[in-house]
Amino acid sequence: MDILSIIFIGIIGLVFGSFMNVLIMRVPKNISIVKPSSFCPQCMEDIAWKDNIPVISYILLKGRCRHCKKTIPIMYPMTEILTALLFVVIYLKFGLTLLFFKYVIFIFLVLTVSLTDIYTSADENFETGMIPTVYIALGILAGLIFGLIEGFFAYYLAGIAAGYLILFFPAYLYSKIRHKEGMGEGDFMFFAMIGAFTGLGSIAAVLTFAAFFGIVAGIIVIIITKDKNYPIPFAPMLGVSAIIYVFFEELLNSYNWSSFIIN
Ligand SMILES: [Zn+2]
Repeated sequence: MDILSIIFIGIIGLVFGSFMNVLIMRVPKNISIVKPSSFCPQCMEDIAWKDNIPVISYILLKGRCRHCKKTIPIMYPMTEILTALLFVVIYLKFGLTLLFFKYVIFIFLVLTVSLTDIYTSADENFETGMIPTVYIALGILAGLIFGLIEGFFAYYLAGIAAGYLILFFPAYLYSKIRHKEGMGEGDFMFFAMIGAFTGLGSIAAVLTFAAFFGIVAGIIVIIITKDKNYPIPFAPMLGVSAIIYVFFEELLNSYNWSSFIIN
């Protein structure tokens, strides 16, 4: 594993992160991801290729659109850098193996879904956060194909069912008791997709972490907004937890998480 291959994986990660920005901005609004080519969402001017190089263009343009001089959201370079970092960490952990390709696809989908949910939750054009079904379908399919290759198809199939049901039942009870929705179908589907990649054994640990992050995020949001009913999207909590799980799987499996949840 030499430095050149690490840099190469990092650049691939930046390019995928740039593509992810396009997906996050366009898919929820049903805009084609190929046409038109990149444009500034504020002045609608086309962005030339030289102004569209991941991270570098942002720095050269000092974070402003060349035409209208309005600020380019910092989320664009941040998403690119985050994707690149995670790709490199997966490469360092797994080398150029089957698991590398599996987890690169996994991380890409998890980040795309989590960020889409966050941005649509914050966007007043959307009533709630949105999780496009196309990512879930692709993810479940990819997860099962890798499961088939690994020879543990049933284990991942069970992961899909467990991920879905473990959120469905408490959400169903909550909606019956409180007469409002706590979590949505998108969250159940997303957890099912995570289960397709990480398998049945991951569900309890991922849920424990997600619940913990949810509580921490909830407390922070209440302190900042002073609004106890401010909606917090749950998918990003699941996403962060799933990524942590992939990186620390061996460590986590040495502890029996299911007993922690049931007790
Ligand atoms: Zn502009």
